[in-house]
Amino acid sequence: MSDFTYSVDADGVATFTWDVPGKSMNVMTREAFARVSEMVDTALADPAVKGIIVTSGKKDFAGGMDLNVLARIREEAGDSPAPALFDFTMSGHHILRKLERAGMDAKTLKGGKPVVCAIPGTCAGIGTEIALACHRRIMADNPKAKIGLPEILVGLFPGGGGTTRFSRMVGAMAAAPVLLEGKMLEPAKARAAGLIDEVVPAGDLLARAKEWVLSATDADIVKPWDQKGWKMPGGAPYHPAGFMTFVGANAMVLGKTQGVYPAAKALLGAVYEGALVPFDTALTIEARWFTSVLMDPSSSAMIRSLFLNKEALEKGANRPDVADQTVKKLGILGAGMMGAGIAYVSANAGIEVVLIDAKQEAADKGKTHAEGILDKGMKRGKVSAEKKAEVLGRISATTDYAALAGCDLIVEAVFEDMGVKAEVTAKAEAAIPETAIFATNTSTLPISDLARASKRPGQFIGIHFFSPVDRMMLVEIIRGRETGDVAVAKALDFVRQLRKTPIVVNDARFFYANRCIIPYINEGIRMVAEGVEPALIENAAKLLGFPLGPLQLVDETSIDLGVKIARATRAAMGDAYPDGAVDAVLFAMADKGRLGRKSAAGFYAYDDKGGRLGLWDELSGLWPVAETQPDLPEVQHRLMMAQVLEAVRALEEGVLEDIREGDVGAILGWGFAPWSGGPFSWLDILGPEKAVAICDGLEKAHGARFAAPTLLREVAAKGQTFYGRFGSAAKAA
Ligand code: NAD
Repeated sequence: MSDFTYSVDADGVATFTWDVPGKSMNVMTREAFARVSEMVDTALADPAVKGIIVTSGKKDFAGGMDLNVLARIREEAGDSPAPALFDFTMSGHHILRKLERAGMDAKTLKGGKPVVCAIPGTCAGIGTEIALACHRRIMADNPKAKIGLPEILVGLFPGGGGTTRFSRMVGAMAAAPVLLEGKMLEPAKARAAGLIDEVVPAGDLLARAKEWVLSATDADIVKPWDQKGWKMPGGAPYHPAGFMTFVGANAMVLGKTQGVYPAAKALLGAVYEGALVPFDTALTIEARWFTSVLMDPSSSAMIRSLFLNKEALEKGANRPDVADQTVKKLGILGAGMMGAGIAYVSANAGIEVVLIDAKQEAADKGKTHAEGILDKGMKRGKVSAEKKAEVLGRISATTDYAALAGCDLIVEAVFEDMGVKAEVTAKAEAAIPETAIFATNTSTLPISDLARASKRPGQFIGIHFFSPVDRMMLVEIIRGRETGDVAVAKALDFVRQLRKTPIVVNDARFFYANRCIIPYINEGIRMVAEGVEPALIENAAKLLGFPLGPLQLVDETSIDLGVKIARATRAAMGDAYPDGAVDAVLFAMADKGRLGRKSAAGFYAYDDKGGRLGLWDELSGLWPVAETQPDLPEVQHRLMMAQVLEAVRALEEGVLEDIREGDVGAILGWGFAPWSGGPFSWLDILGPEKAVAICDGLEKAHGARFAAPTLLREVAAKGQTFYGRFGSAAKAA
């Protein structure tokens, strides 16, 4: 069965219906694109056909390109994939250009057949690029639908003509939110942004499309850039207004990306250079820039981690082969910040929730938290009153453990205290079915130790959410020593229900994410103690593409939490504890009541409303800034290696079993520089041998924490890469 069907009705309107068999969303493949080309030829050659409707047989139009296609082209082309990628991109341009010219006479621009895109629902990537090549875009007034070009979010830019067409339709400045930020817009907003022409009730979509096709004139179907005397809206680069736009855009892109995202730079290049030349040349320029991005290791790494591997993990790449474990009734112990957040996301996903706390007041407060999130959604028009009532109706807040009867999963989120956790585990287990799975949301306590309080350690597991639960997409699942496969499958099925991304790791101090993030924060603080200029530390991190510098990060997560973790770690490690210099700074800040954002005072200063100002100017009084400052790369290497070496050690020790999880988890869990594709991808881009040389230098200057792990040395010595050695299930894109 083909991905498209072709039909012509009695009035001579041909319809291309995109409906990929067996999938809920249309994605474009090489074969389907060839089929589009054939259908265009057929419709243009058939004198009975007056015009074309391009639409979808599904509730949505398209999710975009199947990015596996790019990976396959690259593989097939062997050592020099650039020409194959360029040819593939150009062939796409030719097909869509053929659709756009629609058989019209090249000189008179007359005699073409009108083409309309009838978009029933969400439309992204190549779907939107096809729509942009049509002469008119009509979208159903579907409140769940969005349209846009989100390629930039996975390290690409719209390379199927979307960049050239959309920037020429609305001007470079107006196109920026869609092209550069990858914003997906609801129908009304998309119309205001010039991405579509009309919004109609869903039931009228095809009738209206047909009406337009049958009434369109020659003038209606000539694109502005094919008309004589066309000028770029907002001005081309050498027009005074255009000059200002491009200078501004350049600065904005560099400001936002710090120059580390090749796709953003390439996108701007394609728009700028394309604006200076005729349309078809501009498409060739777009294809060149697109190929250069596809060839950039950063883009391949981003596609691999943020698209291919993220999706593979969400689909259960590491799920044990046991029966479906969909959660029906969830019990949550502890209705504090985390418990309340978990209750909200679960109820929102359709799961019945019993939310327990020691006092009714506290349990109610947890439910009120969910109500607050729903109210915010209502204010933004995203949540209806019915939806709010429905979600809240699924949460029962109580102190009564008997209400847990019939729960198939418990998530415990009480205080971070072994004794308290043991007590509630026993109480809950007395009330739940014997088959239920018990999960703890602890962030620091070993799962295997907590499992000792359980009667059924095989059914005991860690499900570690990140804060704020409703916004953070990663969930870390921790397998204790005795945790069985059903518990792992249960946790994975639960995360799938919540539409979040799971990683599964083994039990060890701080599991995976916190294990890597703590050394990052500590390295930043350590540098403050050494007299490194705090602004240098923070900017070095930002220039690496980290959303927050280490000092801002500890302000956000709170300095007293850092103190608590430091005390517990010191107690557990004894003399081997390596972070005394860090504690000197951390404890001093805590003693001064500077606990971070929550106390409106930390490494940063804050205004009365809690808004962050700049770095606290008295820091240098406490930890004088040294006369000689390290150079930027040294600071960056320290910040990067502090995290990356922990990731390698986690792999070496078997805490991580799959480097895909290490990479995806790092980006989603703590914002590890997304352009790199994650710690393992970064090591591969840098080259393991170079990484070892950097570690050797850092070890000499700063101590054993930078010693290259044996595994890294081995990968380097054998001339391997991490994905080459460990990524057989996760080939580079
Ligand atoms: P919190 O202090 O906001 O909430 C804990 C809740 O547990 C409180 O409402 C408290 O009344 C309740 N509680 C305490 N003893 C109880 C008992 N015996 N029976 C029933 N309820 C009881 O804490 P939190 O930040 O929500 O953290 C909860 C857990 O999640 C901890 O284990 C923490 O380590 C972990 N965690 C926290 C974060 C974070 O960023 N805060 C992130 C991941 C995991």
